[in-house]
Amino acid sequence: MYRTESSIPTKVNELLSRMTLSEKIGQMFQTDPGTVLRSFNSKLEVSTPVTGPVSERTLSKELIANVGSILSSTDAETAYQLQKQFLEHNRLQIPLLFMFDIIHGFRTVFPMPLGLASSWEPELVEAASRVAAAEGAASGINVTFAPMADLVRDPRWGRVMESPGEDPYLNGLMAAATVRGFQGDDLRALDTVAACVKHFAAYGAAEGGRDYNTVDLSEAALRNYHLPAYKAAIDAGAEMVMTSFNVYDGIPATTNPFLLRKVLREEWEFEGVVISDYTSLWETIFHMSAKDGEDAARQGVEAGLDIEMISTEYMSHLERLVEQGAVDEALIDEAVSRILTLKFKLGLFDDPFRYINIEREKQAHLKPEYRRLAREAAQKSMVLLKNDGVLPLKKSVRSIAVVGPFADNGRILGAWSGLGRPEEAVTVKQGLLNKLGKEADVKAAAGCDYSSEDVSGFAAALEAAASAEVVILALGEEDHMSGEAGSRAYLNLPGVQQKLAEEVLKLGKPTVLVLFNGRPLELKWYNERVPAILEAWFPGTEGGNAVADLLFGDANPSAKLTMSFPYTVGQVPVYYNCLNTGRPKGQEDNDFRFLSKYLDVPNAPFYPFGYGLSYTEFAYSDAGLAGDTLAPGGSVKATVAVSNTGGYSGEEIVQMYVRDLWGSASRPLLELKGFKKIRLAPGETASVEFEIKPEMLAYFTANKRYEAEPGDFKVFVGKNARDLIECGVFAYSG
Ligand code: BGC
Repeated sequence: MYRTESSIPTKVNELLSRMTLSEKIGQMFQTDPGTVLRSFNSKLEVSTPVTGPVSERTLSKELIANVGSILSSTDAETAYQLQKQFLEHNRLQIPLLFMFDIIHGFRTVFPMPLGLASSWEPELVEAASRVAAAEGAASGINVTFAPMADLVRDPRWGRVMESPGEDPYLNGLMAAATVRGFQGDDLRALDTVAACVKHFAAYGAAEGGRDYNTVDLSEAALRNYHLPAYKAAIDAGAEMVMTSFNVYDGIPATTNPFLLRKVLREEWEFEGVVISDYTSLWETIFHMSAKDGEDAARQGVEAGLDIEMISTEYMSHLERLVEQGAVDEALIDEAVSRILTLKFKLGLFDDPFRYINIEREKQAHLKPEYRRLAREAAQKSMVLLKNDGVLPLKKSVRSIAVVGPFADNGRILGAWSGLGRPEEAVTVKQGLLNKLGKEADVKAAAGCDYSSEDVSGFAAALEAAASAEVVILALGEEDHMSGEAGSRAYLNLPGVQQKLAEEVLKLGKPTVLVLFNGRPLELKWYNERVPAILEAWFPGTEGGNAVADLLFGDANPSAKLTMSFPYTVGQVPVYYNCLNTGRPKGQEDNDFRFLSKYLDVPNAPFYPFGYGLSYTEFAYSDAGLAGDTLAPGGSVKATVAVSNTGGYSGEEIVQMYVRDLWGSASRPLLELKGFKKIRLAPGETASVEFEIKPEMLAYFTANKRYEAEPGDFKVFVGKNARDLIECGVFAYSG
């Protein structure tokens, strides 16, 4: 973690003592550039306004002159002008903080987080975040609203694309890596930004997968599944936490004292800044847990919410509430101290313009080495779901038809792609031409769009396909079908894309389906008909190059799913780390008619968690456990031999799961506790070891404590959560 100056608390107290109440409350408000400029009657135009329902309320110049931070996708020039004009009005010269969503890249766009997590490589996530921080900081951003650590189990929810997936342990590793990447080891460095982990808490558990919807969870589920990844981000040093839109236990997260005071401040001793989500304090009125704006403001401060984003309940009501004695000014002082501390840590009082340098910004974006990393990241995030041998393609292929809405389309960046531009992205067609040379015959034909019923483009697409040696079907979801407010009730490929695929397949050509989408989809139909399927997600700026690298075998697919793909939406939520039932599937031998199962589809997902193919084959053997007892302070070793039995060199992600056979509380049938990514040449064998320590067995038990209880633990290793072999059982003495 980075160093902080020991003199900061003194400086903060000194400044705080000179601030009026109204100046303090200003720090607790985050607005957008337009609102600032309007109230200053500025002529400055904001080229990159924030989107969304920006509050239309105008605030007086006097109030705006005290604002603490800005939500903006700004460039250096705009940031400079905003800061300059602002400081001309601000009595104590307290600089603005600029915050923005740098989620999977700022200008160089990396794969969407669920894709990047499929690499199972925290180091890669860290490196990508490093690049994103350098680009964002050069444009004047001080804080990014990332990582999103929300655990996800429902692919109907559009924001699954922003999450690392369904596993608490993996999500924690990815969230921590993101924080390390953004913050580096020196928050004052010019190429780092502060990280704000979100959305606290359990935003991913929205009922029905409908964004912003109710969350109704037991405390055990909250603590065992949802909280660990936020905690990991905080332990990695995240400076900020964002609340979530949902209610938890009947109380909106933004005003929830259990989440914000008890868990975050008391148990985790978090000392950083807590910010609401976009207008979420105001929204407590619609949750009907606040009577009006004044009530919302009081509840927010009492719960420990330091900054209100965009809506203006703090600005409108807090001063009066303090004057009436309804809110203790000490609460305001606490919040403002935390905000000022962050500004000092970032060095903004030394020089409010220190991050803003127009010349530096020109050099800082889309550097060749950034693009190279984005290409590697995209290769490592694309999951090979099926291959009956058609892949890798031979370089001697001379004519290819790329058919589908993503055939030659730069909108492969996905939602939340910062200042990334589709015209700077490498499309699939361009990627193939880059690979095969300009003389190659690569034809692109969309055939249809993502969602309409229009089939008028089919004829041209089929003609292109009929004359090619190989057909690439480039299908998927439009970028805004996932991300915020991108919920779907169907998990199909929308529009007439399946019909297009059906027509293309009738031609009988070697055909590969490459998918661009933000969520797990129902792929059974395609799996039964298409020879090979590559899940490319939204792969970012270098997407087309990475697709070509993988299709032609210059890179060997190694990614594995971090979220289960269901047979059908009716199974949702379906995830690997579920509890057993008292009448589980598999008891048929006992003539048990009343099993916990569907009559029409299996219980298991179509593609399980951890699943992904390679061009080579890996065989697992000699699984074992060194020792059958574990005591506090000790460890047990699980081992397995993994051999590359195929014809290509490749990487395998070896996974280790534990099952607690008995304990005070029911526990998942499988819990991922470790994994290793290994590279093997054909014919090579590696012995892979996992060390299991008592702290890895901890769980929120029936004693309402997070603890490792005595019990018997069965250990498994394998290539995914379905194809596992048993290592043995050990007893933990507690
Ligand atoms: C989203 C957050 C985001 C914020 C600021 C909200 O609508 O839920 O994830 O950080 O906007 O853009």
